Amino acid sequence: MKKIGFIGLGNMGLPMSRNLLLSHFTVYGMDLNKEAEMSFHQSGGTIGVSVENMVEQCDVILTSLPSSNAVEEVYLGEKGLVNLADSGIVLIDTSTVAPELNIRIEKAAEKKGVAFLAAPVSGGVIGAVNGTLTFMVGGAKSTFDKMIPVFNAMGENIFHVNEKIDSGTNTKLINNLLIGFYTAGVSEALHLAKNSSLDLEKMFEMLNVSYGQSRIYERNYKSFIADDNYEPGFSLKLLRKDLGFALGLAAKNNVELPVSKILFDLYEEAEMNGYGEKDMSVLYKKISEQTTTIL
Ligand code: NAD
Repeated sequence: MKKIGFIGLGNMGLPMSRNLLLSHFTVYGMDLNKEAEMSFHQSGGTIGVSVENMVEQCDVILTSLPSSNAVEEVYLGEKGLVNLADSGIVLIDTSTVAPELNIRIEKAAEKKGVAFLAAPVSGGVIGAVNGTLTFMVGGAKSTFDKMIPVFNAMGENIFHVNEKIDSGTNTKLINNLLIGFYTAGVSEALHLAKNSSLDLEKMFEMLNVSYGQSRIYERNYKSFIADDNYEPGFSLKLLRKDLGFALGLAAKNNVELPVSKILFDLYEEAEMNGYGEKDMSVLYKKISEQTTTIL
């Protein structure tokens, strides 16, 4: 039976690590937030280990962290995973980070003979809870094949994109660019509908079976906007981070994305207006609150 370490027990990491426990892996969890560690412990996970212990005990270590900075520190810091790991261990980052960071971690890991996969996920918190995530994995196919039971414990659609370490991340960034567009589209469309005296619930019933339908319309409306509850979910600041990485990818490949730039500015402004910690669907609220004409 494989022993697994899991660093970053947040909105995604906590349910993902719980599903590993349900698949009878022994799981050691770690988070800066002690409440998150306690929740994991209550689900049967082991806490209170140092990175050194984790690296000694585990065959595989997964991470689900909120930023490139956090991933860089956890992997490449002096007391980080790559420095402490011995060959034989497999490190898997499921966070969405800058593709360049995937490459830097792979290079450092290679020098130590440590296997590394960059495996971002899609499917949201609901997918993490239900074990139905999509994994888009870049890195060595031979390592990927060995890790399939681990991925299967957390996801339903497991893809090896190709051997290039950043290939999964680049795919995921295109996915999140689309999410950025859909979320902005749903926000403006619902704002217009509301101000045109349409019943949003009835409209959803009709558009959900029309070409205006999308998974993001369903998610953002049904789980957040309809209840006026914007607890994340996927926080707006994380989506803004990913749109920034997508624009970085475009710049690297000399691709002009005029609308995406406007989109990025809109999310950045929303973050500056204090909406960053809320679910991305809160863009609807920002747009309605700031553009409604006062009669
Ligand atoms: P989150 O902020 O809810 O969780 C991140 C966790 O990491 C927090 O509990 C935080 O305390 C912990 N953390 C931060 N730095 C740490 C460190 N140095 N050591 C240990 N723990 C540390 O974020 P999330 O929504 O769970 O997202 C995690 C990653 O997954 C992000 O990269 C995000 O882009 C990606 N993602 C999120 C979703 C989603 O719907 N939330 C979907 C797909 C992908």
